[in-house]
Amino acid sequence: MFKKVLIANRGEIALRVLQACRELGVQTVAVHSTADRDSLHVVYADEDVCIGPPASTDSYLDISRLIAAAEITGADAVHPGYGFLAENAHFAEVLAECNIAWIGPSPEVIRRMGDKSRARETARAAGVPVLPGSKDALPNAAAALELAREVGFPVILKASAGGGGRGMRIVKQEEDLEKMFRTASEEASKAFGDGSVYLEKYLTAPRHIEFQVFGDQHGNVIHLGERECSVQRRHQKLLEESPSPALTPQLRAEMGDAAVRLAKAVDYVNAGTIEFLLDEDGSFYFMEMNTRIQVEHPVTEMVTGVDLVRWQLLVAAGAELTVPSGLEPRGHAIECRINAEHPEKFTPSPGCLETFHLPGGPGVRVDTHGYEDYIVPPYYDSLVSKLIVHAGSRPEAIARMQRALEFFVVEGIHTTIPLHQKILQDPEFVAGQITTRFMEGFAERRAQRAAAAEAAEKEG
Ligand code: ADP
Repeated sequence: MFKKVLIANRGEIALRVLQACRELGVQTVAVHSTADRDSLHVVYADEDVCIGPPASTDSYLDISRLIAAAEITGADAVHPGYGFLAENAHFAEVLAECNIAWIGPSPEVIRRMGDKSRARETARAAGVPVLPGSKDALPNAAAALELAREVGFPVILKASAGGGGRGMRIVKQEEDLEKMFRTASEEASKAFGDGSVYLEKYLTAPRHIEFQVFGDQHGNVIHLGERECSVQRRHQKLLEESPSPALTPQLRAEMGDAAVRLAKAVDYVNAGTIEFLLDEDGSFYFMEMNTRIQVEHPVTEMVTGVDLVRWQLLVAAGAELTVPSGLEPRGHAIECRINAEHPEKFTPSPGCLETFHLPGGPGVRVDTHGYEDYIVPPYYDSLVSKLIVHAGSRPEAIARMQRALEFFVVEGIHTTIPLHQKILQDPEFVAGQITTRFMEGFAERRAQRAAAAEAAEKEG
């Protein structure tokens, strides 16, 4: 096992990695910007190094500063968390040159699967279904138009280097294609320094279902079931659950096999996620692979009993996986992402957590770097906490989450807690009838239902 792990991240995931290290008896090094001095990952780490000013380009994204911190502290491994440099193949290569282990897949695999258009081709070659669309990045708008006509509208343009929903455009009709191609490409250029765009058929009411995969250095590749992440806003996940209410054991086995087949085809090592879209007719299509731990990994941990971050460390240190593939999920888990945001306007709401009372009790888990009087800085992702519940069935998990949200008291900033409370009351959500467009018109549907209920009451 490693002696000392440097955690190249911040926030709740830095703390999550630290917890796994501590339980394995591994020393930890926290890195932080000047804005994160008071964060819990810094407080609990064995050592900490300030790596720069608040701007992440000058701190959490600055490879030379991270390497210097690892060398100064004598860390023998780096865990990148998610976001920041977690899918940066160059960072993994530089670490290898410095003889520091990377807790993740090889740089070659990160590069291959990180290019979404190349990943599509890899999936196709492995016999995993992909949506009709481009083989490579599109050279220009004319080529995009020709292909879109072939595939049929609507289509979706996506950045090859994409992530976080950026560089994506849905095109409903021919007239819009040229302009959308330009804006998608410009947005991708700005966000990722790479303007390549590809295209695929757009499904109008799919579900987002992803599979957790894991490989070790001895050639074993397994899957740990799925997560349903259809509750999204602007293509960003808000709430995730496992198992998916839409999967039968047979479909789970089929999709799980496809996920393992693809991970095996690239000799995948460590934790990864294969994202699929599931269409209304039960067909599923590969969307992308994330070569890192995901924000929503806890729901898988709750229903499988597997500590995924612990396994990331063990596998990176050479251990052989002892977890069987396709474990039957036990009960049901839901995660709500609690962001420091206005729950309706979705504008950032940084500031002081004047009250921060966490829920507890049976089946409740809170992953957070926050505490009372902690100041949520304005410079980073707005996730302040993940609230996860586990119960015997989906209805029990929903009731448990409602109770936990009610007992989660945050004052001083706005959070998405009230939005989650509404989602959990929604009859379609309760019935498990969710697609990736669930949040579209959500407020209007709610208002209509309230008006109808009021009218019925008056009549009655
Ligand atoms: P990113 O890497 O930016 O997160 P993804 O490719 O994972 O982008 O897609 C994010 C979300 O966008 C999906 O969960 C889904 O809601 C929507 N989406 C992506 N591709 C399609 C498609 N072909 N048809 C319908 N929706 C899609």
